[in-house]
Amino acid sequence: MALNLARRRAWPQQRSRRYPCDRKRWARMLARFANESLLSSKARTLKFVVSLALLTMPALAINDPYVAPSAVVQIAACITWSGQPVGGEQVYYTTYVTAGSGYHDHNAGRPPGSFNTPSGQTSITVVTSSDGCAYVYWYAPQAAGSHDIVGIPAIGAPAYLSFIVWAFTDRAPFVEMPSGSDYSLTGQTGDHLSNHWGTGNANARLQTIFSQFRAQTGAIGQINDQSLGWGGTFDLGPAYASASCPSYASQYWTNTCNHGEHRYGRNADIPFAGLGGQGPAFLDIATRNDGAGGGPILDEGNHYHLRFGS
Ligand SMILES: [Zn+2]
Ligand SMILES: [Zn+2]
Repeated sequence: MALNLARRRAWPQQRSRRYPCDRKRWARMLARFANESLLSSKARTLKFVVSLALLTMPALAINDPYVAPSAVVQIAACITWSGQPVGGEQVYYTTYVTAGSGYHDHNAGRPPGSFNTPSGQTSITVVTSSDGCAYVYWYAPQAAGSHDIVGIPAIGAPAYLSFIVWAFTDRAPFVEMPSGSDYSLTGQTGDHLSNHWGTGNANARLQTIFSQFRAQTGAIGQINDQSLGWGGTFDLGPAYASASCPSYASQYWTNTCNHGEHRYGRNADIPFAGLGGQGPAFLDIATRNDGAGGGPILDEGNHYHLRFGS
């Protein structure tokens, strides 16, 4: 069996460094699956084993491995026999997510993506059409991450497909906010070890805001959550539920409160604790530096939620 990995591409460094993909385990599992299929269907064995090399299932059809959070992508594994499409054959699809990808350092309950509906099955069997292709829709989760989809025909080589789910609209990656003398970076947790990623504009504006704020008041402010490294939903989990964001809206892998905005690199939370009682002065400076460019600055009880225009 040959694996057609032509569509695969280099992983972002985070993935290869921290979570290498276990292809050998896959190969063992898939070989076992193929053997079981052979044993369970004598007719098929005769049909396919003679010219196994001619049965091919190329890489799943894909034009772009980079998809937006919550995007829907139609994929198709296509089976040919001596160059001719084979209809009526089953392909078993499964979708996976790579632990730790997308700058989420927690994994419990992580959605791997689904087939045919936003919260549907994570495995599905599809029969090939007369053109030899088994069509299915894949729904990306709203959290960013690396995803593998495997299509396994009843016999023959399995096909792999990988998606990178991230929120960069123009593929310009977010920039990690550098440390600075006019502010401190706060809010890192075990769930999200790195929480200060933003657009170039947002980061530059924040530096200007805190420089001016320090010059005017002497206070060194704090910057809490911006976005995760690949964007997408910045979830908090029920431990961070509050009166304004009850636990049903603040779960892992989703956040339908204001913190759900922190997915495009344009938002930043500024704790009151670092403002030395100079909230009005801070709001004035932030507003003059695009902090309300994407909507009014929100007072969330213990921090301001800034919204940069880009
Ligand atoms: Zn998370
Ligand atoms: Zn916020």
